[in-house]
Amino acid sequence: MRQENASWGWRRVRRMGPACRAGVAALAWGVCLPGQVWAAGEPVLCAGVPAAVQTRQPQALEPACAGARDAFAFLAPLHPPPLRPLLIELVAQLPPDLQRDAVGFYAPRLHRLMVLELPTFMVHRRWFGVPTSLAMYRSVVAHEVVHALVNTYLNGRYLANAGHEYVAYVAMFATMEAVTRQAVMAAMPDASFSFDSEINDMRYALDPMSFGVASYRHWLRQPDGMQFLRRVIEGSVVPELQLGPPNDEPEPTPVRRLTRSPSV
Ligand SMILES: [Zn+2]
Repeated sequence: MRQENASWGWRRVRRMGPACRAGVAALAWGVCLPGQVWAAGEPVLCAGVPAAVQTRQPQALEPACAGARDAFAFLAPLHPPPLRPLLIELVAQLPPDLQRDAVGFYAPRLHRLMVLELPTFMVHRRWFGVPTSLAMYRSVVAHEVVHALVNTYLNGRYLANAGHEYVAYVAMFATMEAVTRQAVMAAMPDASFSFDSEINDMRYALDPMSFGVASYRHWLRQPDGMQFLRRVIEGSVVPELQLGPPNDEPEPTPVRRLTRSPSV
């Protein structure tokens, strides 16, 4: 993604000025309060969290904000540092440099979060082996917001992609509607980790869906789940994958992505 697009989201929000039409006063962010008059495409604040959703589909607002609140609530015991206001962009298409089957992503350096629009996501028909639903859409948003929250802990420090994804998938499944989660677990009965060392970038790259389900099952076995997540975020669980000789150049921060099932 080009650097000049770095703050596009917030510049666009601020350019809107009094963003809410029909006489609704704008907040400092220049966005509408939840429940106020809807103006298609304008960001709307999510109640209780520093996030706003921009979408052309009003029906997507509730599951998206619920997903954001899920993420904040789940990580609250770890007391994440304050998150810069986050714009959740629900878009018709994701940037072309992502995998073709991606449904959402968070770009840490740009602090941009995009998820496919609700109708586009639903067209996938199945995700993690089960039919797509509003509950799953909510979980997609939760997953990506967790990436944003984890990034606040890191404060520029590198964390292996598998560490990021472990936390995001654990939070996603832990907060997912129980019936949907049970369906996913039943659809992927063999996804599991026997050892912490299996939480690595190679395993994630080979099968992100399996990695996600295995992460959740592995986390459930931990005596203190939140403390284990803290250790993951600190970088003491997931090693950095070394594919070559040490390099003094800093690693580029990877784009976090969430993909649908390869079987779809
Ligand atoms: Zn992810």
